[in-house]
Amino acid sequence: MPPELPDLNRIAVLGATGSIGTSCLDVIAAHGSRLKAVALTAHRSWEVLAAQCHQHKPHFAVISDPSVRASIGGNAFPSGTEVRFGPEGLEEIASHPEIDTVVCGIVGAAGLRGAWAAVESGKRVAIANKETLVVAGPLVMHLAAKTGACLIPVDSEHSAIFQGLQAGRRRDLKRIVLTASGGPFRGWSKERQEREVTVERALAHPTWQMGPKITVDSATMMNKSLEVIEARWLFDLEIEQIAVTIHPQSIVHSFVEFLDGSVLAQLSPPDMKLPIQYALTYPERWSGTSPTMNWTQPCQLEFLPADFDAFPALKLGFEVAKQGGTCGAVLNAANEVAVGRFLEGKLKFTEIAQACRDILIGHNFDASPTLTDLLRLDGWARQEMQQWKSLQSI
Ligand code: NAD
Ligand code: MG
Repeated sequence: MPPELPDLNRIAVLGATGSIGTSCLDVIAAHGSRLKAVALTAHRSWEVLAAQCHQHKPHFAVISDPSVRASIGGNAFPSGTEVRFGPEGLEEIASHPEIDTVVCGIVGAAGLRGAWAAVESGKRVAIANKETLVVAGPLVMHLAAKTGACLIPVDSEHSAIFQGLQAGRRRDLKRIVLTASGGPFRGWSKERQEREVTVERALAHPTWQMGPKITVDSATMMNKSLEVIEARWLFDLEIEQIAVTIHPQSIVHSFVEFLDGSVLAQLSPPDMKLPIQYALTYPERWSGTSPTMNWTQPCQLEFLPADFDAFPALKLGFEVAKQGGTCGAVLNAANEVAVGRFLEGKLKFTEIAQACRDILIGHNFDASPTLTDLLRLDGWARQEMQQWKSLQSI
């Protein structure tokens, strides 16, 4: 049974200043009589957060990095907004009785804390932060089953699958096919990537406007790997039930295939406001502000096989999703640090996947870890990646 949608959906936007967060606030602003931003959070960018608070007048704002407190002027936030500092504020907001829906728009494993608190308190959880499911998918899903929390995906592919699954019985599902744009280096060999990839090129995604971490993940195709793992836990699939196809236009957001061979797709121009809005209105559908398909213009849709040799990060995702246990937490942490080092010019683009593989191989695997085990390994993998020595000169 889908959860009932309240007349006024009171929303906490974790990561309000990011790409997902600002799109989410656009959706909320477009439906002011039925959606209300009650809490907004940011890590450091308090000026942007303060401006958002002046517009949306939330009851709470959280700045999760307490070190910026001293730089904030006394009147920066509106008088009706209580400002909290530190990561504990995220948990307080995510479990607050005044909140119906928590939008998890923080980037990286840093999003786990708030997402966990939201699931633990049985909220409607609009989950963009795929890293939460990559790190601790089985534990999060188990917790949701216990508390009755409803996890609704925001990631466009998973939203498409979530929508497609409503057309049939779950037990009649054969498999899902995740689409991937292929990123800016689609069609490039590994050698060409080694020679020609720069930070600027990696940050120039052909079809999506997103934060820097997921943009680099899309270029290495680690993003699709993380999405394979995300899908495995979110939809409780065997790894053999997950496939990937390259779709450069980013219009078909994924497919579900049923036992009779029928394949259903969800299509829309690439714009995150649509899956964000759906997660806020499910099971209802409202008219929105996202662009719609223009069928008076020619539209060609291509589907190409994924190149696992040129993009070894993609192979890692299938392996990690199959093994489960501690692998997701280690891969995710290693990748977060590797992306940071690449953006700082300290790691080559093609070394990201290699370094992640090395660290995965070197970790102490546990098939059924606790949350504490996973957080400890997250710290371990970060340290290992910081020290991972590049063999090539940059
Ligand atoms: P972003 O970098 O644009 O924004 C990140 C937000 O998280 C900011 O508000 C920032 O203040 C906050 N934040 C950063 N570090 C934090 C920390 N340590 N503690 C607390 N808050 C912190 O990122 P984004 O592109 O909006 O992505 C957010 C999440 O959504 C990611 O998990 C990403 O994979 C997922 N996602 C994004 C898109 C997209 O179109 N941007 C699409 C699908 C999924
Ligand atoms: Mg996606």
